Formats: sequence, structure tokens, C-alpha cells
Amino acid sequence: MKNRKKQFAVIGLGRFGSSLIIELVAMGHEVLAIDTDEEKIEDFVDIATHAVQADSTDVNVLRKLGITNFDVVVVSIGQNLQANILTAITLKEMGVKKVIAKAQTALHGKVLEKIGTDVVIYPERDMAIKLAHSFVHNVMNQIDLSSEYSIVEILAPKEFVGKSLAQMEVRTKMNVAVIAIKHNDEIGVPPDPDQIIHERDILVVAGENKNINKISEMSE
Ligand code: ATP
Repeated sequence: MKNRKKQFAVIGLGRFGSSLIIELVAMGHEVLAIDTDEEKIEDFVDIATHAVQADSTDVNVLRKLGITNFDVVVVSIGQNLQANILTAITLKEMGVKKVIAKAQTALHGKVLEKIGTDVVIYPERDMAIKLAHSFVHNVMNQIDLSSEYSIVEILAPKEFVGKSLAQMEVRTKMNVAVIAIKHNDEIGVPPDPDQIIHERDILVVAGENKNINKISEMSE
């Protein structure tokens, strides 16, 4: 699949914003970096497509930067709650299509949602949850489809090793769909139901969480 080059603006070059810019640029996207701190901007002059020292709470500054032309604007200002919220509300009032903002607490996140922020993220909390799941259930990656359904990547439980999906009767007995099997660097999508599963293979499983949990708990 060919990815369209997107234009991003990242406001606030803390650890999160900086890592985001580096990754987006590596993926071939155009990124405008904004921070009030001159030193941080200097660090990003050669990394981001453009790096501008500016206060994002100033609507005139944002207008001059043509912020409404960006596909996605990420507010990754952390400690300064006021600047974070003021920036998010200003961006939405200006008509920015997609505003993603980093929240420090649940209450902060609620405020961001109320003012129309399109996506509120809690990077520290979400990373900790992901890590905890990976320890407990061998879950390596998870996409929540709703509060009850998800797609997860799990290490093949030992009960699966030496058997195929057809033999395990995954669909009928376990009520989930295995949508891919990763074996070393090879990935089978959709998987061959008769393919023998090996130790360290990764299964990509879609279904109801309670059913997925039964499978991920098999290896414990
Ligand atoms: P992280 O956890 O990602 O390292 P953080 O949550 O500690 O970051 P801060 O360091 O508080 O976040 O803020 C990130 C950046 O946001 C800082 O570099 C700061 O200079 C910048 N910043 C703060 N207010 C503004 C503003 N009004 N306009 C632009 N940048 C701002």
C-alpha cells in the first residue's frame, strides 16, 4: 500500500513530541516542529521539515504558520496545562481538521475532549497498560475495536505448537478469528488453516476480549 505523504505539525518538543517528529520524518512525512524554547528548535532545524520558535497559544502566530493546512496537529505540551488546553481550543476554533492532544490526567483529558479535541492520548498510561499486558498474557500488540472486541498479537500458546488452526478448531471452539500467522519473517494473511504452528510463531487474533483472553492465558 502506498502511503500518501501527510503534513503534520507537532507542538511541544518534549520526549514525546521529539520522538514523534523523528519517526514521522523517517516515514517520509512533512513535519513542522513548534516550540517556545529556542534551544529545542535549534536541535530540530536539521531534523524536521521546518522548525519554528513560536508560542502556540497565539492565534496570530498559528495563522501565519498556515496551521489549518496541516492534516494533523499534535499538541504534545506537557507540564504547562494552560498552554496545552489553550492551544488545543485555538486549533479547533481555527478549523484544524484533526487535533491530537496529550493529556496528563483523566480530568485533563476530559477537558480536552469537551473542547473538541479529536483524539486525546495518554502516552505514559497507555504504554504502561500495553507493557503490563505483554507481561501477563503474552500480548505483544493490541488494537481495541470497542470496549469488548479487539485484535491482538500473541505468542502462539504451547497448546497450538505442532498443530494447525483447523486442528485446534479455533473458529468453532474458541470463537475467534486468527487473521494472520507470523513465522520468522514470513506472514500468512489470511493464514492457511492447515499450516503447522511453530514455537515462537505469532498469531494475530480478532474477537471478543473474553475469548481472546482464554487463548492468551493458555501459555501461562
Ligand atoms: P515529555 O514527557 O514528552 O518529555 P512533558 O510532558 O514533560 O514532555 P514539557 O516538557 O512540559 O512536556 O513540554 C514539552 C514542550 O512544550 C517543551 O519543550 C516546552 O517548551 C513546549 N511548550 C510549552 N508551552 C508552549 C507553548 N505555549 N507553545 C509552544 N511550545 C510550548
